[in-house]
Amino acid sequence: MLFNMPQKDAYDAVIVGSGPNGLAAAITLQQQGLSTLLIEGADTVGGGMRTKELTLPGFKHDVCSAVHPMAMASPFMRSLPLREYGLAFIHPPYAAAHPLDNGETALLYNNLQDTATDLGRDGKYYEQLIRYVVDHWETLALDTMGPLHFPKKPFQLASFGLDALRPATWISRSFETEKGKALWAGMAAHGIQPLSNWATSAIGIVLMAVGNRYGWPIPKGGSQSIANALLAHYQSLGGEIATDCWVGDIAQLPQHKLLMLDITPRQLLKLKGLQLSSSYRNQLQQYRYGMGVFKVDWALSESVPFTDRRCQEASTVHLGNTYQEIAWSEKEAHQGRVTDKPFVLFTQQSQFDSSRAPQGKHTAWAYCHVPNGSTIDMSKVIENQVERFAPGFKDVILARSTMTSVEMETYNPNYVGGDINGGIMDIAQLFTRPTWSLTPYRTSNNAVYICSSATPPGGGVHGMCGFHAAKVALKDHYGINANL
Ligand SMILES: Cc1cc2nc3c(=O)[nH]c(=O)nc-3n(C[C@H](O)[C@H](O)[C@H](O)COP(=O)(O)OP(=O)(O)OC[C@H]3O[C@@H](n4cnc5c(N)ncnc54)[C@H](O)[C@@H]3O)c2cc1C
Repeated sequence: MLFNMPQKDAYDAVIVGSGPNGLAAAITLQQQGLSTLLIEGADTVGGGMRTKELTLPGFKHDVCSAVHPMAMASPFMRSLPLREYGLAFIHPPYAAAHPLDNGETALLYNNLQDTATDLGRDGKYYEQLIRYVVDHWETLALDTMGPLHFPKKPFQLASFGLDALRPATWISRSFETEKGKALWAGMAAHGIQPLSNWATSAIGIVLMAVGNRYGWPIPKGGSQSIANALLAHYQSLGGEIATDCWVGDIAQLPQHKLLMLDITPRQLLKLKGLQLSSSYRNQLQQYRYGMGVFKVDWALSESVPFTDRRCQEASTVHLGNTYQEIAWSEKEAHQGRVTDKPFVLFTQQSQFDSSRAPQGKHTAWAYCHVPNGSTIDMSKVIENQVERFAPGFKDVILARSTMTSVEMETYNPNYVGGDINGGIMDIAQLFTRPTWSLTPYRTSNNAVYICSSATPPGGGVHGMCGFHAAKVALKDHYGINANL
């Protein structure tokens, strides 16, 4: 896709980086009538939302994001007419499946009741943990998917927060069965930290609740379809875009009143001409990044031969066996060691979307967590984990494409050391990222804002970081209240 170069010498706002958050900031500013230019270094728009033929012709792989519960659950995304721009979500029969060595499979259904029933003895506790969040998500989303603030519904938030702030290890003790504990571990491990860390229950609860409310859908055509729809909407509002333009120095940019940066602190510190105070720079230097990922994409001659065929109908398959195994592998990677049995997040988009592979053929996507900056090739251990629950998998591989953590950062500099969340999302950096502030989108330069996943609410394709950054900038400079 080719984009016009800047039409004007001056804009109200320039946005650097076209990930979901850069696009969200650009749309929010453009919606209020500002003139904006969105600048992207790569040759296509989308950041973590790109789909490419990484293996063989005709096999379309999601380079980064694949499954989109948080886009469905995002008040910002939900406010946009993206269907009008071709975005269609496909809902696989199960949100997630988690096979175990003992032959059982835990399933996250697209509704609470079936999930609870399937969990048997753990169903009652599951319902107790999740029901409130499922029922109140729309208001809870406004209170949780953003910076710290006085909540709109304090009692609702308190009910969620009491469980969410606890380490996932604590909650695991309330599940009685191996199946229930394993399902919980797989969900909490999306937080990319040791499960004994405070607040690791938050991501587990949210992913299960949002799955029960909206499913874990995949976009028809790949995550690039989300980027394309956001871009088309932005352009329909009059927004301008320039691709293939890496910004290393602010002097490169056309004149602007506001600068929105969809980048993380490490990159921001390297950007020339920003005029930030030394105390602010010091704070950014303290910002911490978490584990990296190792990613594999496969072109397959047929569907993945999972022993439990229900796994073929799941949007995501969690491969890591028991709670203990997952907790151990996450802790090891966090402490700088790789294991031969990592927790693997696995998807199989062509199973539900025939546009992803030639007729009768399939694609699959997987990653595992590794030490930040790792250059170790994990493709063999990941394939062993898939084979463990799908004997014969290795025989259906036609081609593979891999990315180490370091290659992930080369592909997109926002993934520092392969950290896909733009910085560790532990309790100290969950709501106050990248600095301890109630408005962490502001920098020490009052014309410059950070809008990437290094701001609240952090990683994932939801656009809420970009929306909040733009909201603060609109209030600061134009006295405009942008609400959802
Ligand atoms: C392997 C992987 C799997 C993932 N899976 C999922 C998933 O299934 N679901 C989900 O919700 N999320 C997933 N994520 C996370 C999600 O992709 C990110 O959290 C999200 O894209 C962050 O959005 P962002 O706008 O903050 O930054 P990004 O999407 O990273 O976008 C930043 C953009 O800025 C550009 N840029 C950076 N520096 C400059 C510069 N100096 N000049 C010009 N342009 C610049 C980059 O090229 C990039 O396009 C995954 C990520 C990875 C890597």
